[in-house]
Amino acid sequence: MKIREILGRGVPTISFEVFPPKTAENYDSVKEAALEIAGLQPSFMSVTYGAGGGTSKYTVDIAAALKEQGGVTPLAHLTCVSSTREKVHQVLGELRERGIENVLALRGDIPADGHVEQDYHYASELIREIRSEGDFCVGAACYPEGHVESANKADDIQHLKEKVEAGCDFVTTQMFFDNNILYHFLYQVREQGITVPVVAGIMPVTSKSQIRRIGLMSGAQLPVRFRAMVERFGDDPAAMKQAGIAYATEQIIDLIANGVNAIHVYTMNKPEVAAKLRENLSDIIR
Ligand code: FAD
Repeated sequence: MKIREILGRGVPTISFEVFPPKTAENYDSVKEAALEIAGLQPSFMSVTYGAGGGTSKYTVDIAAALKEQGGVTPLAHLTCVSSTREKVHQVLGELRERGIENVLALRGDIPADGHVEQDYHYASELIREIRSEGDFCVGAACYPEGHVESANKADDIQHLKEKVEAGCDFVTTQMFFDNNILYHFLYQVREQGITVPVVAGIMPVTSKSQIRRIGLMSGAQLPVRFRAMVERFGDDPAAMKQAGIAYATEQIIDLIANGVNAIHVYTMNKPEVAAKLRENLSDIIR
């Protein structure tokens, strides 16, 4: 099924994200975790893509397993800046062959050594190309706090608009920990005439070590309430996990109460975290 149809129903949805293994030895354990999460019957599940494309086969294989064995609609991520056009089309061909209809089209991060291929510069080029390639439902990334490379949020929103005009059906946000940032962003994008569904990306932070990585990776602002939680529970792994899941649950309930129906959870291959969230929301997202 196409994700634009799922999002178009106008009822709360929840999707979960998994990342593929880096090596063949970890393939079975990642697939097992992904299928366990699929057993929670999310609205769809996304599978990330290793930026260099070296593990693209695992993205396609895990996405296909979710569809064929897990009975869940998969969303395969695809990045372009470190790929040749030939590689991108090879992966699109594999997705089509396996009946995977949904692609999250991304530029990918610029590698630390600065080496990129020259076929693509921005995600909008990839989106346009996928649209001209056939019948995929295409999503893209967006950044409520602005993308880290962007000089300002206004420019970033104009570039988001280019992605939507290139043909994307929905956009998924980078993680955020303060819902007011998302509400403000939604106001700004709607004002710019961007009308596609915005899927809110929520990261349950379940360990102290995640925090530093999040700050570095996404530039997300961490509210005082969030910092207090980490200060109080950060050194007690079980308490931190419980508090982090509760924080994410509260964020999701507030979003849905305010009309943001599409929720995406960065579950990081952790079935127990996805299960607890699902249970906390069982009567809110049916
Ligand atoms: P783009 O939309 O191309 O934007 C990149 C930067 O260029 C922005 O600053 C933008 O403002 C600017 N820009 C865009 N167009 C122009 C233009 N015409 N002129 C000048 N500037 C322009 N990474 C992975 O490697 N694998 C994944 O699976 C993955 N999944 C992700 C899922 C989500 C929901 C999110 C939010 C991010 C994900 N990422 C993933 C990270 C993503 O690849 C990086 O954030 C990357 O740096 C930007 O990708 P993008 O598609 O948003 O790029």
